[in-house]
Amino acid sequence: MKNYYEILGVKRDATQEEIKHAYRNLVKKFHPDANHHSEESKEQFQQISEAYQVLSDEESRKQYDSWGHSAYRKYAGQASRHTWQEDEDYSRENGHCGACQTKKDSEDEPPPHSIRVAVKMSYQEIFTGAVKSVEVPLKESCSSCGGKQDADSSKCHVCHGKGYVERKQQAKVRIPARTYERCFYPLADVLCEEEESSFPENIIVIVLLKDQKGFERKNYHLYSVQQVSYMAMALGGEIEIPTIEGMTKYRLEPGTRNGARIRLAGQGLWMPPKIGNRGDLYVTLQVEVPRKLNEKQQAALQAFWDTMREEDAIMKE
Ligand SMILES: [Zn+2]
Repeated sequence: MKNYYEILGVKRDATQEEIKHAYRNLVKKFHPDANHHSEESKEQFQQISEAYQVLSDEESRKQYDSWGHSAYRKYAGQASRHTWQEDEDYSRENGHCGACQTKKDSEDEPPPHSIRVAVKMSYQEIFTGAVKSVEVPLKESCSSCGGKQDADSSKCHVCHGKGYVERKQQAKVRIPARTYERCFYPLADVLCEEEESSFPENIIVIVLLKDQKGFERKNYHLYSVQQVSYMAMALGGEIEIPTIEGMTKYRLEPGTRNGARIRLAGQGLWMPPKIGNRGDLYVTLQVEVPRKLNEKQQAALQAFWDTMREEDAIMKE
């Protein structure tokens, strides 16, 4: 799948001027009117418009750059597409939203015509809960023309005939602890007390997890690699392992092999309640070979090695 830059054929660091220029050229070429309204041209035109809508706005472009294409389309992109898409895009028969293919009334999805605002959270934040700032896109009746829609875009220089203007408003939300990827809340339920709520009712806040260095995520399980000293692997004993809640102690068996994987049950991510409680953390143990030994340590290790060799020699006799 092409990203928005590729769709417009511009570089990642293109200026607004270059983006506008590329967009105009593409519109001329792919406008359905110029292509006998072929399905292909309609689709291309739709892609070009979507790419331009995001990249021509510095704020949404920044968000797009930091989230990446698929996450942006899935979550943030929907905010705009749903807000500014009229109901005719909603195909009534099959219960799918034409804009995003969201299934209507699906239990795990926010209502299709909600305005979706994503909130990115770190593992630490989902553990403790956090107050976050989100940007809510709002559509307001144009005060210049009194909100009159007009096919002639030159009539109103403020809304260009659309009858409404788009505006983004910051909102402070308090996301509770133990939340999870794609968990969603009606804005009114999480809005901070001091916020004055003048927001429409259909705004949904969706949690997205930020990846965290040192942990790999698969569904609700986490995976990490832990370096353990050669001595601890050989002799056994207590080691410390980082989890998303901080360090935890773990007792190693003597003679633990390199590459062994241990499971810390319930130390992963929280799951949606209907699936379960919490995922696990799997830690792969990797032997850390001692380096920079001083003379005394070197001698001790050499002596140890010698005894091992002696034992080998005896075994062979
Ligand atoms: Zn207007």
